[in-house]
Order: sequence, then C-alpha cells, then structure tokens
Amino acid sequence: LIQLYMPLNILGFAYREIKQGLTDMEEMFRLMRQPREVEDAPGAPALRPGPGELVFEDVRFGYRPDREILKGVSFRVPPGRTLAIVGPTGAGKSTISRLLFRFYDVTDGAVLVDGQDVRDVTQSSLRSAIGVVPQDTVLFNDTIRYNIAYGRPGATDEEVVAAAKLAQVHDFVERLPDGYRTMVGERGLKLSGGEKQRVAIARTILKDPRILVLDEATSALDTRTEQEIQAALNRVSANRTTLVIAHRLSTVVDADEIIVLQDGTVVERGNHGALIGQGGLYAGMWQRQAQAVAAAEAAAAAQAAA
Ligand code: ATP
Repeated sequence: LIQLYMPLNILGFAYREIKQGLTDMEEMFRLMRQPREVEDAPGAPALRPGPGELVFEDVRFGYRPDREILKGVSFRVPPGRTLAIVGPTGAGKSTISRLLFRFYDVTDGAVLVDGQDVRDVTQSSLRSAIGVVPQDTVLFNDTIRYNIAYGRPGATDEEVVAAAKLAQVHDFVERLPDGYRTMVGERGLKLSGGEKQRVAIARTILKDPRILVLDEATSALDTRTEQEIQAALNRVSANRTTLVIAHRLSTVVDADEIIVLQDGTVVERGNHGALIGQGGLYAGMWQRQAQAVAAAEAAAAAQAAA
C-alpha cells in the first residue's frame, strides 16, 4: 500500500504546487479557455453606453454541430430587472451566460445588449459592461485590497472600503491583523467560501457593470452565511440588470421573471407565484427542494439534540 501511497502523495503535492502558480494566472487561464474563433469584427466599435437591456432572440447554439444545446431560446430583461434561469442539470443554463460574454457565437438568432448585437462590438467593451459573481471565486495571491480593487484599477482606498461595506465584508477585513493589506489566496490567508464570495461581490460593486451575472453556488452554505451573501447580492443587483443562473432555487423567489429551461428549450416562464400556481416543472422542483431543506434541517436538529 505504501508503494501506491507515495506516488499519489507526490502527485498531490505537485498538483497543489501547480495550482498555486495558476491562481496568479486566473485571467490568463480564463482567456486560454476561450475559443480562438471568436474574434472582433474588423473595425468593430465599442459597445455604446445604455441602460442595460438584455435580449436573447431565438438563440440556437451547440458546442458541436451534431448536438444542439439551445434550441431557440428567447427572453428580454428590461433595464434594472432580474431574470432567473432554472432547470435540471445540463439544461443549458451556464451556456446562456457564456453566449452573453461571447465566449462562443450563436448558430442562429442573436444576443443583444442595449440593442447592439454582441458580435458587432469589441469583446473588451462587452466584457467590461458585464460583471460576474461566480460560483467559486479564485482569489489572487495578493492583498485583500488588490483583490477588491481589481474590479476597478485605480480605485481609491475610500472606494474600496465603501464597496467592502456594501458587500458586508468590511467588518471581517477590519478584524484581520493586517486589515486590507492581509495577503490572501493559496499562499496567504485562506478565506471561507462565503468570505471569498463577498470579496467577489465587493469587486463587482467597484466595477459597476450595467449587467450582472450571478452564477449561483451549487454547494450549500450554512444558513447565516447564505443570508449574508444574499443581502450583499441584493445590494449589488438592485436597479441593475441581473441574470441569475440558479442551480438551487432559494435565490429566485424575488426575480421579476423566472424561465425554466429543459433540454435547451424554455418550458415555463413567469414569476415565482405564477409558476407555483401552474403546478408544473418549477413547482415540482420547488417542492423537492423544500423537502430536501426540511430533511436537512431535521437531521441537523437531531444531531444538535444528541
Ligand atoms: P448545471 O446546472 O449542471 O451547471 P447547466 O444547465 O448550466 O447545468 P450547461 O453547462 O449549460 O448546463 O451545459 C449544457 C450542455 O452542454 C451539457 O450537456 C454539457 O455537457 C454541454 N457542454 C457544456 N460545456 C461544453 C463544452 N465546452 N463542450 C461541449 N459540451 C459542453
């Protein structure tokens, strides 16, 4: 067994070393994952300013020609409103956000931001208009301040602190020995998932994008952390066009519109109350989730009592 264990151990060590190096290169890593074929149209202008209207117009798309993932998806998010996309795993939810960022081009239909087709503007201007709070934030091996200010290079200390306060991470930072100069990331202080996410929210608040994409965490956070994050997210999404990619349903209740995606097609749409009333796929998903939450709470209570 020891013979097997040793190489595995070394492998694990090597993996951690490589991962540490890569954390510094998050941006490069992201760029590398982007397909080369998506290029700016010759002489493409920057995205014009606007209030942040987002439209998907009968969008069709497949990663490969033989397998269509989105089969004619249409929706409109008016400026300042929130649209949540729910649906079973593999339905195509994350694919929608990738098309918005133009990591890929649609095969048919169009993605429009403030009336401009994303294929007609520069990718850099498009991406600077969109902020994302990802499921799993990777922090740079640098200070907390750097990690927040990354959202807006040149931000002043006051702006960084104001964003941290809105994201409800300021009090936590103040309690650290070196405050905003505390080193974080793989080689520094390890933050919890909830803390990292609030740093990401502060970064996004500073960036002040006209469209926000919330890629909701699949991993369950404890109730208090979840409430804190939800409060921070509500602040950043207030009056900002927001697309929620919902892997769980807890955050979609207040969305202005929910679309239920199944197998690349929108099968239901409406707000939470309307969809519950329909008694369809969404209502079923909601019921199952409520049961799962109740069962988890009962198990936790039983454990606490033991
Ligand atoms: P989940 O809730 O599990 O995250 P999702 O609804 O976000 O799922 P997508 O990530 O959009 O689903 O994936 C939709 C389909 O596209 C899946 O069948 C997936 O396997 C496939 N897919 C995703 N990314 C790629 C890719 N880069 N190349 C080929 N197929 C892909």
